[in-house]
Amino acid sequence: MTTNHFVEPAPTPLALLLLGRGADPDSERGVECPGDLPAASDPGLVERARAAKAKLGERVFILGHHYQRDEVIAFADVTGDSFKLARDAAARPDAEFIVFCGVHFMAESADILTDSSQAVILPDLAAGCSMADMAAIAQVEDAWDVLADAGITDVTIPITYMNSTAAIKAFTGRNNGAVCTSSNAQRALEWAFEQGQKVFFLPDQHLGRNTAVLELGLALDDCVVFDPHKPGGGLTTEQLRAARVILWKGHCSVHGRFTAKTVAQVRERVPGVNVLVHPECTHEVVLAADLVGSTEFIIKTIEAAPTGSAWAIGTELNLVKRLALAHPDKSITFLDQTVCFCSTMNRIDLPHLVWSLESLVEGRIVNRIVVDPDVAHWAKVALDRMLALPGVAVAPKD
Ligand code: SF4
Repeated sequence: MTTNHFVEPAPTPLALLLLGRGADPDSERGVECPGDLPAASDPGLVERARAAKAKLGERVFILGHHYQRDEVIAFADVTGDSFKLARDAAARPDAEFIVFCGVHFMAESADILTDSSQAVILPDLAAGCSMADMAAIAQVEDAWDVLADAGITDVTIPITYMNSTAAIKAFTGRNNGAVCTSSNAQRALEWAFEQGQKVFFLPDQHLGRNTAVLELGLALDDCVVFDPHKPGGGLTTEQLRAARVILWKGHCSVHGRFTAKTVAQVRERVPGVNVLVHPECTHEVVLAADLVGSTEFIIKTIEAAPTGSAWAIGTELNLVKRLALAHPDKSITFLDQTVCFCSTMNRIDLPHLVWSLESLVEGRIVNRIVVDPDVAHWAKVALDRMLALPGVAVAPKD
């Protein structure tokens, strides 16, 4: 048996991304939790969570995203990526309370896909997603106006990644587009090119570019980046008309930290290592890696890997740590040498989970996520279009 070589990356002042700060209620993040939370130092937290969950019994269903802390995952009824968890929630219509240990857009999707009588709860309202925050609905509507002025909206199909707000999903639904995940982005783009001549891809430029170039065979020059902070997106009318894919200037702050240099360094440190990364990484990182795929793909690849094989994984650190612990017969290392948690995901901790569960026991529903009915309707249209793509409904993954 191979010794587990997993070494916790060194913390640095910049290691934890400082998201979830401030107080902007229109943001995916930055909303202070209103609760009277138990102290993180309370030695009875685990027992309190266990007791509250037991009292709620079948009334509560706890979802844990792959990037959550171990202390939270320990109480999850199911784990998975965002889309799997939303579907898991929809498959439990008997559960009154869906406690979503993930981030805000995921809880929104669960609310859209579950019955209105079920309450979806996000234990900390500050658990947002910096990528989703990079595409505000007002910015996207302004961008659509720019595309209309260029005379291309009739031939452009919007596709949004699951990691976007409900309002952006509704925008794509209203404009003949669809949602995609990191595992079905290729099928979604192929479908879009059957409906129109161009794709407007939101909000992750890297997933859009990696899919268009590496899966569909388009040229890098076929893609342009629309910057919402520049007039006209920073593009000329000619550039918009010539482009096949218009990428929104958004990215994941966690996956965006990996560089081609980190790939080269790990190859030097670990001879024979296989580099496995998520498609939210930059194009240069994906090109330098051996394998690229969604969170579920990463998990399955490691499960199927031969004993003694060596892996460097470029995704969120909590997942990489759990994979290393679950597979001591393989050498698993984190792609970066510094800590790289998703700090907003990490806002869901044991005190917040205990507070939300104990509040439910006392008959108080806290931090309920409710999507506006009209937004929910159009977002579901876009989600249903994704589910109608060949093979997607059979094997949903993110
Ligand atoms: S890992 Fe990236 S995309 Fe996922 S929730 Fe965190 S910031 Fe958002």
